[in-house]
Amino acid sequence: MKLGKMVIVIDGPAGSGKSTVSKLVAQKLGYHYLDTGALYRAVAYMLIRAGIREDDQDNFKKILAAAEISYEKSPAGMFVRVNGEDVTAHLRNEEVSLQASKISALPAVREKLLPVQRAAGRDGGIVAEGRDMATVVFPVAEVKIFLDADENERIKRRHAELAARDGKGDYALIAEGLRRRDHQDRTRTVAPLKPHEDAVHIDTTRMSIDEVVEAVLAVINRHPSREFS
Ligand code: C5P
Repeated sequence: MKLGKMVIVIDGPAGSGKSTVSKLVAQKLGYHYLDTGALYRAVAYMLIRAGIREDDQDNFKKILAAAEISYEKSPAGMFVRVNGEDVTAHLRNEEVSLQASKISALPAVREKLLPVQRAAGRDGGIVAEGRDMATVVFPVAEVKIFLDADENERIKRRHAELAARDGKGDYALIAEGLRRRDHQDRTRTVAPLKPHEDAVHIDTTRMSIDEVVEAVLAVINRHPSREFS
């Protein structure tokens, strides 16, 4: 069996399972995995480290314009560079999460990252995950999936993820952060989190990771460009 080089996009809120599932689906297909949240997180991290707030317009614009954001594949997924420096290890904490959600509402940030993301999908053979993959970045994607789960389940997953990594995690703080981020991501004017009208919805609340991966692969296998040889 041979699979044509499709663009597969998976959108959804935090804790919906999209990172884990996208990575596994990409592995199964021998596709490239693109974690677009990591690019927004890299911009957020760069600004935090430089001590620049998003309302400091002049410095914000200057540092953003000068920044070179790039990424490379790694066995664990991908790593992100800011001006050549690998910043991947600094991206997955609550401070960066909240700042990423804030700055991702700014058109200048989205415009900066759009070509980086599009370039990754030029030749197909990619599983890209984020918030606006289907609606803005890859409306041409052959397969569009929207993953979701009940809020409490998403908070539980996020808490478990942080606890597994750092051995800590204040449940109430994580819950508040996730709710705030959700609200910001869904209500922003530019590229809000919302399902594309052609997206296949999967509610992962009561599903295991393996079941979600199977469900996504089933959607992919139903696509007409799936080639058999
Ligand atoms: O997916 P992840 O939680 O790592 O994304 C971090 C933040 O980056 C999100 O809360 C969202 O505000 C922003 N983001 C976005 N568009 C994407 C991916 C992420 O606005 N395509």
